[in-house]
Amino acid sequence: MFESLSDRLTGALKDLRGKGRLSEADIDATAREIRLALLEADVALPVVRAFISRVKERAKGAEVSEALNPAQQVVKIVDAELTAILGGEARRIEFAKQPPTVIMLAGLQGAGKTTLAGKLAYWLKGQGHTPLLVACDLQRPGAVDQLRIVGERAGVQTFAPHPGTSVGGDGAEIGVQEPVSVAQRGLAHARAKMHDVVIVDTAGRLGIDEEMMAQARGIRDAVQPHETFFVLDAMIGQDAVVTAEAFREGVGFTGVVLTKLDGDARGGAALSVRELTGTPIMFASDGEKLEDFDVFHPERMSSRILGMGDVLSLIEQAETVFDAKEAEKTAAKIGSGELTLEDFLDQMMMIRKMGPIGNLLGMLPGGKDMKDAVGDIDEKHLDRIQAIIRGMTPEERADPKIINGSRRQRIANGSGVTVTDVNQLVDRFFEARKMMSRMAGQMGM
Ligand code: GDP
Repeated sequence: MFESLSDRLTGALKDLRGKGRLSEADIDATAREIRLALLEADVALPVVRAFISRVKERAKGAEVSEALNPAQQVVKIVDAELTAILGGEARRIEFAKQPPTVIMLAGLQGAGKTTLAGKLAYWLKGQGHTPLLVACDLQRPGAVDQLRIVGERAGVQTFAPHPGTSVGGDGAEIGVQEPVSVAQRGLAHARAKMHDVVIVDTAGRLGIDEEMMAQARGIRDAVQPHETFFVLDAMIGQDAVVTAEAFREGVGFTGVVLTKLDGDARGGAALSVRELTGTPIMFASDGEKLEDFDVFHPERMSSRILGMGDVLSLIEQAETVFDAKEAEKTAAKIGSGELTLEDFLDQMMMIRKMGPIGNLLGMLPGGKDMKDAVGDIDEKHLDRIQAIIRGMTPEERADPKIINGSRRQRIANGSGVTVTDVNQLVDRFFEARKMMSRMAGQMGM
């Protein structure tokens, strides 16, 4: 997502580099490039217009002419304005003073509501909450089971009507009322079982229709949600604007969640929705796994689009997997040249927990170039390294010097690789250990 936009914007801003003073013509030319880049990324026209006029106004003002480095100043302005259209500061969920906090999800079918329900529940659980999922999508076949499955994976409970039985057990016909009744009973269940958050999954249609809106309104009125999230598939391009507007009028929402940011769409929806609806983007999903989900940070997203990297997100991810004490121990071992293959395996597994290496590189400033230069990092190769180390005995991992010819043969057989692969790994490990220890010495670690 945003790749071509990112390329074009950084390209446009690169042209300014090295210029001591910026003429009005320079600024106009850059603004034109930025405008084209945004339009090509499917950003809605009114948003593009407003954006360009703000950037131009600021760039022509004192902010830039009096700056030591005018080009850098323009980048800062574009960054600030991009952050602003993405919503400024991240907004957090407003939890009810009297639990449970009710969060309703609305959006088109396929937008990713059910998947999101699981991700959000998982995330909330990680923050110490006790969410309950309530299955009110009784339209799409399988939606109830799907929610139950994501709930199980997230380790949270799901309140759902049993398949094939009517909701009340009183033989009531399946009708518009049914999802409302499930919602109400789900809420009552949450109160009784002390769940502090209730996430209500609702039905969507492939297109907007009045019946769906009426049903969503019915659920909304019955459970009085504290937050209603409009779930928007970032891949749908220009249609996003119409859909968002229909939901704003039909049900209303307090926040937007963008899904499928991992796709290769141009990203205009993401850039337009906040400005057009006046509602903040609160979370973003970028994959099908439970962990592919995070609070949406406008400033970080902007930095990422402008190729300035997203070091903050990287640090946060690192903090979730690395333990400070352990890291210190490892650093000491590196310094004294005592690093073992066991340590190496631990480190590698921790880094890989943070996601595919390519994604990590993409978060570094200039990381996109690095990612392009390195090409596709072969995750299979990393798997192979892990397999080889796992094929070693604890003694071998602790003291790789004892790995002689016959041990190498055994390890190769055991991990399904050739002896050459094992040799390479062991040799490189010794080289790397020497180099790291020397570097640590130089840096005075
Ligand atoms: P719903 O109809 O709104 O409940 O949508 P679903 O939750 O069933 O999602 C529709 C499809 O999109 C499923 O195949 C999901 O796995 C997929 N999906 C949801 N979120 C994401 C995401 O962030 N990235 C990707 N790549 N796929 C997603």
